[in-house]
Amino acid sequence: MIVLHPSIIVTMDSERRILRDHFIGIENGEIRYIGKEKPAETEEIVELPHRMIVPGFIDAHTHVAMTILRGLKDDADLMEWLQKYILPMEMRLKPNDVYYGALYGITEMIRSGITAFLDMYYHEIEIAKAVADAGVRAVLSYGSADVFFNRSPEEEFKIAENFRMELEKLARERDAEDRLFFAYGPHSPYGCTKELLEIFRDESRKTGYRIHIHLAETQSEVKQIREKTGYTPIEYLNSIGLLSDKVMAAHVVWVEDKEFGILRERGVHVLHNPISNLKLASGIAPIPRMLGEGINVALATDGPASNNRLDMFREMHVAAIIHKGYNRDPKIVPAKTVVEMATINAAKALGLNNIIGSIEVGKKADLVVINLKKGPHGTPLHDPYSMIVYALDQSYVESVMVNGEWLYRNGEYVKVNLEELREKVQGIRERLMREAGIS
Ligand SMILES: [Zn+2]
Repeated sequence: MIVLHPSIIVTMDSERRILRDHFIGIENGEIRYIGKEKPAETEEIVELPHRMIVPGFIDAHTHVAMTILRGLKDDADLMEWLQKYILPMEMRLKPNDVYYGALYGITEMIRSGITAFLDMYYHEIEIAKAVADAGVRAVLSYGSADVFFNRSPEEEFKIAENFRMELEKLARERDAEDRLFFAYGPHSPYGCTKELLEIFRDESRKTGYRIHIHLAETQSEVKQIREKTGYTPIEYLNSIGLLSDKVMAAHVVWVEDKEFGILRERGVHVLHNPISNLKLASGIAPIPRMLGEGINVALATDGPASNNRLDMFREMHVAAIIHKGYNRDPKIVPAKTVVEMATINAAKALGLNNIIGSIEVGKKADLVVINLKKGPHGTPLHDPYSMIVYALDQSYVESVMVNGEWLYRNGEYVKVNLEELREKVQGIRERLMREAGIS
């Protein structure tokens, strides 16, 4: 058993207990003990004075391999950004590019204490390999979009099915069945035909797999869907019968009064991406009202090309302040709620709250060690939630553990070589630009 002895544990358990001077015992990747007394038969005690341990953060919506496209085009609106810049470049990405882009993105995530994420992309099996190699945990979906790719709904669904089978095989081979999970990924109401959405509805009902989708992100999406169907995007998916507690909906910025009830009644999980929504000028999601209505809201970065970081500290900070300023109410979306959105709420959204999202006996040991003495912002300590959300940044992350294994320890990566990855990623960028005829 490995035993950690930090000065503070932010558990995020059902009572939201903050434990001082407790021991955490870890065995076979799981938390086996939490208590004031040093556990007997201890092989190794890691003394962590002035350290706070929090559950690994969960990035509930991203496209992790887009590190390669970070900074390619900024300061543009979503549809222009997607159609003119991102999609043409993505068409040139080879499977190996996606692998290295993902591995690079994951190293960035680990640096800010992200231990699990929900992804949607192409060549998604390459992202699964990167997850397996990096040691983190992920729910992965192939971004199905028969409209974008000019494929029939059946052909497009088959690609998702093939990915599911490949993923299950890889998870078995790599002994990573508790780290690699599958979800369906219909891209959006505008990227999929109604027929394809209906296939996912039926398959999800049959198999129980979750559905990961972009929803009501921009006003132009609302306009487009209304012209095509007569409905808003949320009403449209509801009319098809797609919405359920298996649905993980990214963005959900444009919500009409009557639609809050739909989201609540169907049990839809909302994935909030405040920085991406601000940067692409999509708008500000009505998160305070969703929380008030009892809708589960998880926090996410979105892809590194629209954020441009995979940094949970920055995301938490923006999530905590943006709604206050916008609504002129300092009491809404408090720091503790934001930490919930980045941990236990995200675990619920991904359907993994039985194994991650809090520090409790029986859960997986996905832990972040924060060194409060790393800089001036860790003193004095009044309220750990306030400190995490308003004062600290990722430079305070000292060590990160997933499944009881250190992935980042005392500021060093354990499993990846960042320098090699940097060269790979820059090399891919140069090749893409050459191929596209851009210098
Ligand atoms: Zn997205």
